[in-house]
Amino acid sequence: MAWALGRIGWSLPIARIAGTMIYVHWTFALLIVYVLLQQETLTVESIVSSLLLLVIVFSCVVLHELGHSLTARVYGIPVEAIVLWPFGGAALLPREPEKPHHDLFISAAGPVVNLLIVIAAISVYIIVGIISGSTAEVWDELPESLSFDYLIAWILATNIFLALFNLIPALPLDGGRILRSVLL
Ligand SMILES: [Zn+2]
Repeated sequence: MAWALGRIGWSLPIARIAGTMIYVHWTFALLIVYVLLQQETLTVESIVSSLLLLVIVFSCVVLHELGHSLTARVYGIPVEAIVLWPFGGAALLPREPEKPHHDLFISAAGPVVNLLIVIAAISVYIIVGIISGSTAEVWDELPESLSFDYLIAWILATNIFLALFNLIPALPLDGGRILRSVLL
C-alpha cells in the first residue's frame, strides 16, 4: 500500500494504465480461494458479489498506487510497475526521490486519491438520490449484496480504511514517509 523499491517477482501482468504495468502476484489466487471458502453456501450470487467486492477493493488499491506512481513521474522517477499482493499493493520505484519534499508529495498522493474517491462516491450517492427520489429504487431488482447502497458503502469503507491505515506514521507506510520528509 506504500511505494517501495523492489522487484516484480512471480507476477502476472493484467493491465497497463497511464504507462504503468499492473501485475498481480501469484499468491493473489490464494486470496480468491480464501474469500470463496468463507461463504456458507456457494451460490452464483455469493460468488459474483464476493468477486465484485474484491474488484472494488483492489481497484481502489490500484488507484492509490497510481497516485504514487504518477506523482513520482512528475519528479522524473519512471515507475515501472504496480504489484498487487493479497494484503495490498505497491508502486515499485527504481530509486529514492531526490529531495524530502518530493517524497512528501509522492507519499501523500496515495491517501489523497482515496479521499477524492470518498468525495466522489458521496457525490454520486447524493446525485443518484436526487435524480431517482430514493436510492433504494435504483437497482431494486438486485439482491442485497449487489445493491447500490451496499456497493457505495463498500467503496466508502474501503477508501476510508486505505487512507487512514496508510497515514499511520510508521515506516514503510505513507504516513511514516510523510513524517520523515517533514522532519528532514
Ligand atoms: Zn500508499
